[in-house]
Amino acid sequence: MSRDLKGPVKITAEQLELITEHAIRDAPNECCGFVAVKGDVATRVLVAENEAHSPLRFEISGKQLFQLIDEIESAGEELGAIYHSHTRSAPYPSQTDINFAAGWPGIEWLIVGVKDGLTEVKSYLITDGVVSDVPVAIAG
Ligand SMILES: [Zn+2]
Repeated sequence: MSRDLKGPVKITAEQLELITEHAIRDAPNECCGFVAVKGDVATRVLVAENEAHSPLRFEISGKQLFQLIDEIESAGEELGAIYHSHTRSAPYPSQTDINFAAGWPGIEWLIVGVKDGLTEVKSYLITDGVVSDVPVAIAG
């Protein structure tokens, strides 16, 4: 999976809220999911299941991944961002995230930090192991 770089994914406040609600709901475990885009505009949020059910990592099986990607592509959309939460550390990519990202060039990494019910959302591009900040762009 890759995506042509078209600038930061523009996400609506409602979509962002779906993501932060998911993070709060699944805490203290990490949550995960996808943001589908058309161009650089987020079209919808697809909630995934963290099959590791762990506060330290997230895992999406090949089967679940295939279903979600198929759902996105058959709607004429692209994968724009992968989101997950950090409930025990700052919303910054872990080494595991950086390694995982190697297979997903051009995809943004949206990380929700959850602490005491408060959330902080950050976004990154991870290219060849190098993490760069991306502004979380709110559409509309
Ligand atoms: Zn992480």
